[in-house]
Amino acid sequence: MPATRALRFRPAPGGIASLAVEAAACTGCGDCVSVCPVTAITLR
Ligand code: SF4
Repeated sequence: MPATRALRFRPAPGGIASLAVEAAACTGCGDCVSVCPVTAITLR
């Protein structure tokens, strides 16, 4: 499990939350890629 908080959800009342990525905090571990059920996340 990553030690940093690279992904944050911004709630949108009545809508779909948006995802913010803090690239500087991402370690590239790939955990988020492997658990996404719709393959929405890729690492470059
Ligand atoms: S690859 Fe995904 S789970 Fe891993 S640190 Fe980066 S954003 Fe977090």
